[in-house]
Amino acid sequence: MLSVNQIETKINKANLSFIEWKKNPFTQRQKLFSKLASLMESKTEKLASIITTEMNKPISQSIAEIEKCILMIKYYAEGEDVLKVEKVSTSFGVSEIHHSPMGIILGVMPWNYPFWQALRFAVPTILAGNTVVLKHASICFGTGNAIEKLFEESGFPKGVFQNLEVGHAAVEGILENPLVKGVSLTGSEPAGASVASIAGKNIKKSVLELGGSDAFIVLEDADFDKAAHVGALARLQNCGQTCIAAKRFIIHHKAESSFLPKFIEEYKQYTSGNAMHKDTKLSGMARKDLADDLVKQYQLALDYGAEVLLPLERIDDIRFVPGLIKVSIGNPILDEELFGPLGMVMIGKNDKECLSLANATRYGLGNSVWTRDREKAFYFAENLESGAVAINEMTKSMPELPFGGAKHSGYGTELSMFAVKEFTIPKSIVGTL
Ligand code: NAP
Repeated sequence: MLSVNQIETKINKANLSFIEWKKNPFTQRQKLFSKLASLMESKTEKLASIITTEMNKPISQSIAEIEKCILMIKYYAEGEDVLKVEKVSTSFGVSEIHHSPMGIILGVMPWNYPFWQALRFAVPTILAGNTVVLKHASICFGTGNAIEKLFEESGFPKGVFQNLEVGHAAVEGILENPLVKGVSLTGSEPAGASVASIAGKNIKKSVLELGGSDAFIVLEDADFDKAAHVGALARLQNCGQTCIAAKRFIIHHKAESSFLPKFIEEYKQYTSGNAMHKDTKLSGMARKDLADDLVKQYQLALDYGAEVLLPLERIDDIRFVPGLIKVSIGNPILDEELFGPLGMVMIGKNDKECLSLANATRYGLGNSVWTRDREKAFYFAENLESGAVAINEMTKSMPELPFGGAKHSGYGTELSMFAVKEFTIPKSIVGTL
């Protein structure tokens, strides 16, 4: 772990780097991101193995994560300059908006998509002219160091991206350093609330990408085969440890007898295997304590009357046979995020009740709705309280589209060109010459 003095030295280095980095034209910065994408392409399997080694993700899913990072970096490397000076017509002779980078931005990132989350934040932030210091999850320091090395090998000046090997107790001190101008945290709600309050106390901007308990709504006219197949994947990929995973399956009562048996069959296809084998779909959770928490949540749900559709069976410290439970309103488990291979089913008596069950959560990241009726699909999309809605697809993040939450899932925007402006100051320049 870095000492307080070592952290300060790295922050000073990030500041010196910022002074030079921000002078580069947007297109110049983009060229380095093209090199970063090519470098990652040449090392895909090696980088993927770091993910699997650190947090147990099946290797095929780790490779897919690296490939998605490459796509995202190319999107920014090839995108239009959204920070160019905007000329505005006002009563002044000169009226312009300049987008100035803020300075050093701290990223506090989780282990579940360790390359994706860190790069999803860092790439647009650095493209905007900022420099970044990363505090990665304590089990992902190898990933943090690998990303720092990738930036350096792609030709980015030293100090533009630095990994800080620190525990979360160090975050407060880093944020209080006057040279650090903002923070982006992806993680749990308690971590987000704590970091945002430190940022607020220091009048610094924060972006929070937090937990979710998204609904997968199956209406009576859905394609049940496709919904069952995609639903199991949406719950169980990455061993159920995905923020935008489908966590609550809300089924119209007229769809229950057609959909549920198919869904259960698809669910049973996920059996735990060796994470390093390319055909493994489900491996273990990232840490034993997280698996312990999931067992406690399962017990809580059962204590409040949840019906077992498939029992959650623990195989070892981190491995499970995935579980599925049917819950009703009033069960306290509905206020919690299930971050592991355990799904919840709820039955709605009509469309209106399905919508209100879907919205009856503190979270709102990305719901999905399954119906063949276009009008109904858009009615749900308009009225679901979340940052994204997928129709007849599972919820996914994409480089081109803004990503962020509603309610306790956080605030601020990642991805798309919106993210390039997140840590910039729109400066109005007016006057007469
Ligand atoms: P976590 O325990 O909150 O950790 C996330 C990061 O925050 C880690 O770097 C962690 O450091 C740090 N941290 C934890 N407590 C902190 C505190 N009090 N002050 C400052 N930093 C703190 O979350 P996780 O278990 O890694 O990740 C799972 C959560 O992330 C889930 O809730 C998931 O839904 C959410 N998530 C959200 C998104 C999104 O885009 N909305 C994406 C992915 C994950 P240490 O490792 O050192 O504790």
